[in-house]
Amino acid sequence: MITRKLSAIAAMCGGTIQNDTDAGSIQIAGVSINSRRMSPGQLFIPIKGDNFDGHDFASGAIEGGAVATLWQRDKALPAALASGVPLILVDDTTEALQKLASAYRDELQVRVVGVTGSNGKTTTKDMVAALLSGFFRVHKTDGNYNNHIGLPLTLLALEEGVEVVVLEMGMSGFGEIDLLTRLAKPDVAIITNIGESHMLQLGSRAGITQAKLEIVAGLKQGGLLLINGDEPLLHEGLKNVSLPENTEVQTFGLQEGNRWAAEHVIVNATTSSFDVRGDNGLQLVELPVAGVHNVSNALAAIATAKKFGLPDDVIRKGFAGLKLTAMRIEPGVAYNGAMLLNDAYNASPTSVRAAIDLVAGLSGYHCKWLVLGDMLELGPDEEAMHAEIGAYVNPSKADRVLTFGKLSLHIASEAAKQFSDADRVKAFEDKQQLIEWLRAHLVPEDLVLVKGSRGMRMEEIIHDLQRA
Ligand code: ATP
Ligand code: MG
Repeated sequence: MITRKLSAIAAMCGGTIQNDTDAGSIQIAGVSINSRRMSPGQLFIPIKGDNFDGHDFASGAIEGGAVATLWQRDKALPAALASGVPLILVDDTTEALQKLASAYRDELQVRVVGVTGSNGKTTTKDMVAALLSGFFRVHKTDGNYNNHIGLPLTLLALEEGVEVVVLEMGMSGFGEIDLLTRLAKPDVAIITNIGESHMLQLGSRAGITQAKLEIVAGLKQGGLLLINGDEPLLHEGLKNVSLPENTEVQTFGLQEGNRWAAEHVIVNATTSSFDVRGDNGLQLVELPVAGVHNVSNALAAIATAKKFGLPDDVIRKGFAGLKLTAMRIEPGVAYNGAMLLNDAYNASPTSVRAAIDLVAGLSGYHCKWLVLGDMLELGPDEEAMHAEIGAYVNPSKADRVLTFGKLSLHIASEAAKQFSDADRVKAFEDKQQLIEWLRAHLVPEDLVLVKGSRGMRMEEIIHDLQRA
């Protein structure tokens, strides 16, 4: 954060200063919500979570270097704090953090790219940042820090001279993207796709679409909205939202009619290449990651890069240097020399189908294995959604299917119908047994893709397979 006076910070978050002997003149060099990770000169922001209340850790934060702290007005002040460092009293510390971030964003001459969607947010955010970094000073969301606390903290981490910030915007219900986009005020807003995640809270895929389209609420006038044009619900949903004045809408996707479409797509286990169709197109884009869904994410990144005026060679170079956050189809070597694709970060029907398509498109392996864990939080239709994945797999796409978890029994039972040899589909409810079976059968020329929801911790299978 660029240093601000305490009095300015109090005004930005709508708070009142107490215990201050320097008339608000002390300098605040940044903020932290973690009392154990304070840097000297920072403001501590105690957040109330489900299990902990940050207010209980304020003294520790001060010992750790905090020079002031936010404090929720209705909370009793411990004696140690009553006469200690300056406090900024606010009604609600989380809201104050958001107000502060919003005011700080408004003071900066920074352009903002906001990325939402059911799948591919982190990947697309990483791609956009990789491209724009070839030309601008870029800051991006760290990892998956994409919620009502992570996004404001990302804004408050912006240093002097940053020209573009690329923000991931996540949600689990209505109104959340609305809040994030109003804080961030993006110049470019991207919706990567519409899947099924958070169906439980949003009721239907149309509901999910509406929630993602909330991103236009904060879009700057004259901004660019980039939507996945392969998703009919986005075209439909767009008719019901009011766009800010002079919004430009562009579509990207694998289908021909999109403003940004790919052709001559080639996908390998660790790389992909394609051309961007049409005027202002781009030949020979090479990605160091696999999967047509990543071609789609890359098209969104290219569209953004073109909006920022990047020349083609900078775009190509940006992709060449791309490093994705871990466990997104991360290649590796398994036990016995087999090729491993670690896609264990998370799973939903859309992303599992994308992973199956990826494996289907790969050739030259002795045996292609799909190791699929449960997809969680899908709501009342969860069993049917697992069965649909089972029906989607067949011997033309993969040679063997192993499942882990109770819900995945429905994948296995449907998949078994597609394979004549029953031994090719096996369901496990014990991870260790799955690992042992796999270890007993893997040969060096095999390919293994592992995927499941976060809660299934499918990476434990990977880690075991990576041991000799
Ligand atoms: P989260 O909501 O957990 O933050 P995310 O939207 O940030 O997820 P990523 O982390 O980029 O998504 O990717 C997660 C997984 O989603 C990838 O490993 C891949 O399987 C899948 N995925 C990525 N992009 C797409 C896409 N455009 N369409 C379908 N699936 C995708
Ligand atoms: Mg993410």
